Amino acid sequence: LMRVLPFAKQLLHDHIEEGQVAIDMTAGNGHDTLFLANAVGETGHVYAFDIQSEAVAATKARVEKSGVSNRVTVIHDSHDTVQAVVEKEARPITAAVFNLGYLPGSDKSITTHGNTTIAALSQLLDVMAVGGVIVIVIYHGHESGKVERDEVLHYVESLDQKQAGVLRYGFINQVNHPPFIVAIEKRA
Ligand code: SAM
Repeated sequence: LMRVLPFAKQLLHDHIEEGQVAIDMTAGNGHDTLFLANAVGETGHVYAFDIQSEAVAATKARVEKSGVSNRVTVIHDSHDTVQAVVEKEARPITAAVFNLGYLPGSDKSITTHGNTTIAALSQLLDVMAVGGVIVIVIYHGHESGKVERDEVLHYVESLDQKQAGVLRYGFINQVNHPPFIVAIEKRA
């Protein structure tokens, strides 16, 4: 069985072609931003959001070190501004990823929250190409993570199946609240 994080990458990879646009909604240390930048290739583009200046700096440094900074825009703002940011983007937006929770090794009180995550999801569903995927990795070991998990699940379960297919993937017999994935494929 494929583990949760490799499965998240597989889903993203399967939905991205060279020249397309992908979005890292929670840049953190930039690991996913770099992964997406490699997937979209030289002619594609990645937008990466984070509210912490530390994360913005770490992400910029990572993509610069790998020589792909010209295809990445790092935005020091909340991901619920995504629609306004990508409004002028002419290329199809086919993949987006969220890693919910806090930045490991950093201030644990700065976490994602259900209301902004859901606002961002709703905007993404408007701007993305049909067939595009949104992958959300849900960490629910901490208290605010449990609240956000329930809010996000409530929202995605209510999406019309004609508009979006929603998948949940995770191991159900692991200790310590392992992360799980919710993937949304835009259908219409
Ligand atoms: N994917 C990242 C990596 O590769 O290192 C880890 C992301 S970490 C689990 C979650 C990140 O979300 C934190 O860096 C935090 O600052 C950021 N964050 C929290 N609320 C946010 C918001 N409203 N908009 C954008 N980023 C946010």
